[in-house]
Amino acid sequence: ASARQEADRSVDSLCPFCGVGCGVTYKVKDEQIIAVEGRNGPANQGRLCVKGRFGFDYVHHPQRLSTPLIRREGAPKDPSLSGDLAAQFRPASWEEALALAVSGFTRIKQESGPKALAGLGCAKGSNEEAYLFQKLVRTGFGSNNVDHCTRLCHASSVAALMEAVGSAAVSNPVADVAETDVILLMGANPGANHPVAASWMKNAIKRGTRLIVLDPQAIDLTRHAAHHLQFVPGADIALLNAMIHTLFDEDLVDWDFVHRRTEGVEAIRANVAPFSPEAMAPLCGVEAAQIRAVTRLYAKAGRAMMFWAMGVTQHAHGTDNVRCLISLCMLTGQIGRPGTGLHPLRGQNNVQGASDAGLIPMCYPDYQKVSESAAQAKFEAAWGMALDAEPGLTTVEMMQAASDGALKGLMIMGENPAMSDPDLNHTRAALTQLEHLVVQDIFLTETAALADVILPASAFAEKDGSFTNTDRLVQLGRQVLAPPGEARQDWQLLQILAQGLGLDWDYQGPAEIYTEMQPLMPSLSGIPYARLAEARAVTYPAADPHTPDQPVLFTERFNTPSGKARLVPAPLPVSLEPCDDDYPFTLITGRQLAHWHTGTMTRRSRVLDAIEPEPVVGIHREDLDRLGLEVDQRITLVSRRGQLQARLRLSNRLRSGDLFMPFSFHEAAANLLTRDDLDPSAKIAALKTCAVKIRL
Ligand code: SF4
Repeated sequence: ASARQEADRSVDSLCPFCGVGCGVTYKVKDEQIIAVEGRNGPANQGRLCVKGRFGFDYVHHPQRLSTPLIRREGAPKDPSLSGDLAAQFRPASWEEALALAVSGFTRIKQESGPKALAGLGCAKGSNEEAYLFQKLVRTGFGSNNVDHCTRLCHASSVAALMEAVGSAAVSNPVADVAETDVILLMGANPGANHPVAASWMKNAIKRGTRLIVLDPQAIDLTRHAAHHLQFVPGADIALLNAMIHTLFDEDLVDWDFVHRRTEGVEAIRANVAPFSPEAMAPLCGVEAAQIRAVTRLYAKAGRAMMFWAMGVTQHAHGTDNVRCLISLCMLTGQIGRPGTGLHPLRGQNNVQGASDAGLIPMCYPDYQKVSESAAQAKFEAAWGMALDAEPGLTTVEMMQAASDGALKGLMIMGENPAMSDPDLNHTRAALTQLEHLVVQDIFLTETAALADVILPASAFAEKDGSFTNTDRLVQLGRQVLAPPGEARQDWQLLQILAQGLGLDWDYQGPAEIYTEMQPLMPSLSGIPYARLAEARAVTYPAADPHTPDQPVLFTERFNTPSGKARLVPAPLPVSLEPCDDDYPFTLITGRQLAHWHTGTMTRRSRVLDAIEPEPVVGIHREDLDRLGLEVDQRITLVSRRGQLQARLRLSNRLRSGDLFMPFSFHEAAANLLTRDDLDPSAKIAALKTCAVKIRL
C-alpha cells in the first residue's frame, strides 16, 4: 500500500525472469522503480514469486553500462578473467564504437567469407529483437550461424517435438493442471524455477490431483507427491522405457488412440521388450514395483499432464529422453484434451518467442527450414536478397569453431556464454581467440570482459515489445524507464549495425518490426499487431484475426504431414562419463529460487543476493560423514576439465554419491566442470551432470 501511495506513476508490463510470463505493475517514483506488484495477467492472476517481486533493482545498479566501451590498445584478453576487467576498456563515442564494430565484421567477411562470422542472440529480448537479430546475421553477415541459449535448455525438446508432432511448443498451458487428475513431473523443479506455475500445481494437488515426481533429487514439490522415483542420474531412458514396457505388459495402452492418431507403435513395442521394470530397476536405483505403480497411475488417469525441463533435456541423450516422454503420452492417449498433454517448461521469459522468431541456425521464423527451397524462396522474397541454404553453427559448435580458428568474428546480444556454456576453460579460451567480439549488454559480463567492443543496451523495463511465454501466450511488455546515460534500445543498436553492414533498414519501432515478422510466421497469421495491442495477450496459433485463443492443441490431428504423431524408439545411451575411483561423485548443476541463470541480474539485486550470497555445493549426510567433512567447509571441486572452490551445504534432497551446484556464481562457475558432449540431434550439451571429486 505504501509503494502505491508513494509512486508517482505505474506501468503495466511483464516479469523479466522466467517463462511463466507473469503480469506485473511497476511502481515508479522519480524515475526509479520502487516496487513491483502482481498484475491480473492470464499466467499469474496477481501472483508473483520472490524474483518477480523483489528482483527489479538490478535496473538501477551502479554497474549498469551507460557508455560504449572499446578495448584499450594492447590490453590483452585474459581467459582467466582475473585482474581489473574494467581497466582493459576505455569509454568511446557511439560513432567510434559502432565504426569499430562494423569494420571488424566487414573485414572478416571480406577476408574469410560469411561463415567466419556468427551471432548469439538473446532469450530475454523481445520477439522483435530476436527477429531483427537473426535477420541481421542471415542478411548482414550472410550465413545461418545464429543461435541462442535455447541450445543449452530445450533444444532437445524442440527436436523431439518437431519430429513427433510437428510443433515445438507446449500442447496445453500450465493452468490446465486445474483440470487434470495426475501431473507427471520429470527433471524439473518448478518450485525454484517456475514458482507461480508450481503454485498452480499445489492448488490442484490440494483439490485431489496426484503428483508423480521422476527426479534424481527431491524437489520443492516432492513433499506433495504421491510418488517420487529418485532414480540414478542418467538412467532416464532405462526408467522411461521400463514405464513404456509396463504399458504393453499390463495392457495399459490406449489402442484406439494409438491406431487413430499415431504411427510407429510396433517399433516402440519391439524396442522396449527387454526393458522390463524388473530388469531396469537395478540400473535406475528404484524398485520395479514403483515403476509399475507410477505407470498405472499415469495411464489409468482420466486426464494426465506431463511437464519436464533441464533434467530431461541437458544430456547427450536429451532428444531420446523427450522421445520417450512423448511415447508415454501418446500410448496412453493423454493428449488433445484439457488437462492432458506435453509441456516442456520454458526457462527464460522469451526463449519460446526467440526460437519461434528464428533465432536458431537451422530454421527461419516459425521453424521453416533453411534447407527447404520453398522456405528459402519465401524469405529471399521477403528480405530482398539471396540467402544461404546451409544450416549454421549451434552455440557450442561456435565455440569449437572459434577454437579451431574457423570462426573469427562474433556478435553477442545479452548472452553470457563465458558462464553458461559447458567446459568454460575451453569456452573462454575460444572467445579469447576470436579476432573480433562485439557484445551488446547491460553489464560488463564475464563474456563482455573478453570483447573488443561493448555496446550499452536496454534492460527489460526500458523497452517495448512482445514476449511469448511457456504457454504460447504472446504478451506485450511496456517501457517503464529510459535506458541510463547513452545506453540505447536493442532494436536501435541492431538497426545501426545493419545499416553499417549495408542493409537499408529503417524501422520506426517494435510495432513496425512485428508487422513485418507476423505475416512470415503462420502461427501468428491471425494475430496482427492491432489484435495484440488491443488484447495485450493472445495465445498462438491463430489462423485468422477472429480465431479465438487455442490453449489446447492436437484435438483432432498433429502438425505432421500424415496428421499422426510419430513415435520414435530410444536405445539405452552409453554413459559418456561414468563415476570411477578418480572422480567418484556425480555433480548435478541447476538453479536456485533466488538466482537467475548466470547471475548477471539477480546477483545485482539486493534482496535476492542476500538470500543466496555465495556458491555452495549440496552434499548428502552420508558422504559428509564418510569423508570426515564439515558443513560450511570450503572444498575444491575438481572434474576432468576444471576446478572451483565453494562451501559445502548439507542437502536432504540428494542421493548419496550425488552433489548439486547452481551455475549462477562467477566466483565458482559450475560450468568450469561440465562437459561439452553434444546430443546428435539437438546439439544440446550434456550440461546436467559430470563426474567430479572433492579435494580439501
Ligand atoms: Fe517472474 Fe517467473 Fe516468478 Fe512469475 S514465476 S514472478 S515470471 S520469475
